[in-house]
Amino acid sequence: MYDVVVVGAGPAGASAAIFTAKAGKKTLVIDSDQSITKRAWIENHYGVMETTGPDLIELGKKQASKFGAEFVQDKVVSIEKQSDGFLVKTDSNEYPTRHVILATGLSVELAESIGLATRPGNEPRIKTVLQTDEQGRTSVDGIWAAGTCAGVSVHTIITAGDGAKVAINVISELNGERYVDHDVLK
Ligand SMILES: Cc1cc2nc3c(=O)[nH]c(=O)nc-3n(C[C@H](O)[C@H](O)[C@H](O)COP(=O)(O)OP(=O)(O)OC[C@H]3O[C@@H](n4cnc5c(N)ncnc54)[C@H](O)[C@@H]3O)c2cc1C
Repeated sequence: MYDVVVVGAGPAGASAAIFTAKAGKKTLVIDSDQSITKRAWIENHYGVMETTGPDLIELGKKQASKFGAEFVQDKVVSIEKQSDGFLVKTDSNEYPTRHVILATGLSVELAESIGLATRPGNEPRIKTVLQTDEQGRTSVDGIWAAGTCAGVSVHTIITAGDGAKVAINVISELNGERYVDHDVLK
């Protein structure tokens, strides 16, 4: 049983996984390798002079792996409610989990197929996004959304930050108290 399954390993999903895995939550990231970030050249990400989208994505996955997050390359085709969480299904496997974070970028196909509420997007060229509250909760308790699919501005620092924000909210809910992750300079 995973604590968190993240769908999508772009900046939003991998950033969420860094936080949940580092917090000791059993984390799986399932990604279908269709990130729009793979086409980007980036010079506006705070703390990074310049980088390529593919390098940013690989580093994000490596960082989350360092804390124990598992990665699977596959496409999630459904998410079923269970008595104690959810069953996240691909064509070949199924993964039980307590929480799901959707970080599916431009695609809301999966979310729509499982009946999550959507709304029109506000950002340029983004037609539909998921309805979420301030914390990142979707219309189904236990399924959260972060990044482009949650309607935030389509920039790597913002989608990554949103993934971190939602992860902190999930961790706080699992822990029953507000979570903060600060390492102190040795
Ligand atoms: C050409 C281009 C240039 C850009 N340049 C910049 C720039 O200079 N600066 C900047 O800040 N931003 C730039 N961006 C925007 C940036 O890439 C996005 O803001 C941001 O990275 C999106 O992050 P995300 O995690 O929300 O989505 P994505 O990076 O798109 O990741 C979503 C992931 O979810 C996966 N997924 C979707 N559905 C499923 C499913 N059912 N099962 C499994 N996996 C699934 C996809 O395969 C994908 O890997 C650029 C974008 C493009 C296209």
